[in-house]
Amino acid sequence: MIKVLRLGHRRGRDDRISTHVGLTARQWGADEIVFAGEKDENMMESQRDIINRWGGDIELRYTEEWKKEIKAFDGLKLQLSMYGRKIGEKLDELKQEYESRGDILVIVGAEKVDRWVYENVDYNISVGNQPHSEIAALSVFLDRLRGGEIKDSFKGAEIEIEPSEDRKLTREK
Ligand code: SAM
Repeated sequence: MIKVLRLGHRRGRDDRISTHVGLTARQWGADEIVFAGEKDENMMESQRDIINRWGGDIELRYTEEWKKEIKAFDGLKLQLSMYGRKIGEKLDELKQEYESRGDILVIVGAEKVDRWVYENVDYNISVGNQPHSEIAALSVFLDRLRGGEIKDSFKGAEIEIEPSEDRKLTREK
């Protein structure tokens, strides 16, 4: 089970990025995404609309109590941060631990992440020690964790793409 926790959402400013964090989590097989920071029903609703049409059963919810969310998680807890240990050095260990524990919580931030998080996860992992983006970090991390397998089928989809070299083809299901 893969759960993603998106910390520090700011209404207005982070709408698009938080939406893309959710859609990225869905594409790479997460089972649940939890948003913390400012409560933003519109941002979550727009994702639900996309999920209803394109399928999948990822659960979306909001929490005010993100520390509790991390403390209560019974599995491998990991934060993605440019300050963390390099993913390449830790990947085999992380895969083994994920396999033996069965569940993983992947935390991404928005702006500055509280030091408490660094001290209360099992791993702080970087995807390069340079600043970039939570969307990029999450997709690269989940892709490596899954061994490069991109999820292709989403339960209950109303629409699907017919891959094409030269046009936009979709089919209603
Ligand atoms: N200086 C900020 C910090 O505290 O890490 C950068 C924030 S960045 C805009 C938002 C989020 O993107 C971070 O909280 C982290 O989850 C992710 N991120 C950015 N660069 C990363 C990197 N090189 N490796 C892993 N995650 C990264």
